[in-house]
Amino acid sequence: MSTKIYFDHAATTPVRKEVLDTMLPYFTQSFGNPSSVYDIARKNKQVIDQAREQIAQGVGASPEEIFFTAGGTESDNWAIKGVIEANAKKGNHIITSTIEHHAVMHTCDYLESKGIEVTYLPVDEYGRVSPEDVRGAIKDNTVLITIMFANNEIGTLQPIKEIGAIAKEKGVLFHTDAVQAVGHIPIHVKDLNIDLLSMSGHKLYGPKGIGALYVRKGVKIKPILHGGAQERNRRAGTENVSGIVGFGKAMELAVKEMDTHNQKLIALRDQLIRGIAEKIDHVQLNGHPTERLPGSVNFTFEFIEGESLLLLLDMKGIFASSGSACTSGSLDPSHVLLAIGLPHEKAHGSLRITLGMENTAEEVEYLLEVLPPIVQRLREMSPLYEEYIKNQKR
Ligand SMILES: *Cc1c(COP(=O)(O)O)cnc(C)c1O
Repeated sequence: MSTKIYFDHAATTPVRKEVLDTMLPYFTQSFGNPSSVYDIARKNKQVIDQAREQIAQGVGASPEEIFFTAGGTESDNWAIKGVIEANAKKGNHIITSTIEHHAVMHTCDYLESKGIEVTYLPVDEYGRVSPEDVRGAIKDNTVLITIMFANNEIGTLQPIKEIGAIAKEKGVLFHTDAVQAVGHIPIHVKDLNIDLLSMSGHKLYGPKGIGALYVRKGVKIKPILHGGAQERNRRAGTENVSGIVGFGKAMELAVKEMDTHNQKLIALRDQLIRGIAEKIDHVQLNGHPTERLPGSVNFTFEFIEGESLLLLLDMKGIFASSGSACTSGSLDPSHVLLAIGLPHEKAHGSLRITLGMENTAEEVEYLLEVLPPIVQRLREMSPLYEEYIKNQKR
């Protein structure tokens, strides 16, 4: 038997069969360029608008406020750079947090190197930004607040509604990277006073390389890609028709089935949290106890290296992560785990399990069976653990 259990849905999700089926005709039959005038092309313009409607409905926006991009990274870059450029007369200050995805963090670093002022707000031990810190950081030259909706490593949800209300009151634009949240938890951009919101197809069982940016009507933003007049002159480049269609379908299904999926995910997640607490010592759950994504857990196992843990799990057919897919391959501990106050050695010993709709209670049971001996074996090889045991005996 070769076990293959995928527990890394925050990195990416498989494309759903129903989604793939809606995409296939646009590769070989209905392949026309939507900007052309003949029949097969014009129809493609309509299917794009249908997908735009599906995306808009998924987040409580109007279709005219949705712009397709090549994914979450582009949406984040565009939101931040585009707003800063378009509002240069108003000011040059951005407020963000220390736990953002690299697509936001490195964009802010880049702008800082170009003379833009950036405030990086700290988070508490659960990974939450304080709305009062946001209020306190707003200055006369503040143009944009960019704070993520749900963290990709520890699953913590931010107080988005409170931050949105402060931004509105102070007349500052509010962008949120909602890539981990869209299609997973209810989001309504109008209720939450969000001005710009980033999303991505492949985090909600849609295809990779497609995403969208919601831009509230009236928000000033410059394009970052220059070229044709696609996306109402805001985002140049021939539309990724199949990707757009798939993303729209994925969003429609995600919203329709959200409650059922979340009930299932929460049950699996709690089975996992309980099981690990029962079977393994010196472990802590990272992130907020209740304000977290339904399918996401992140544990720190003291005295061991997350990377070795991943390799041994991989040998058992379990695919998980030590944090962000983007930081693997680098030896730096996660900036998110450091930001919630973990010391370096603990930040190295983390395991992220992100569950998805195809996971089962049996798979979680299997993980709970194989994980304790792996942790024990790694601890037996660990000098830190040896030292700890010695001190215990003294
Ligand atoms: C995955 C992810 C992104 C990047 O999205 P891509 O579509 O892969 O470019 C951005 N932000 C968060 C929070 C993510 O999880």
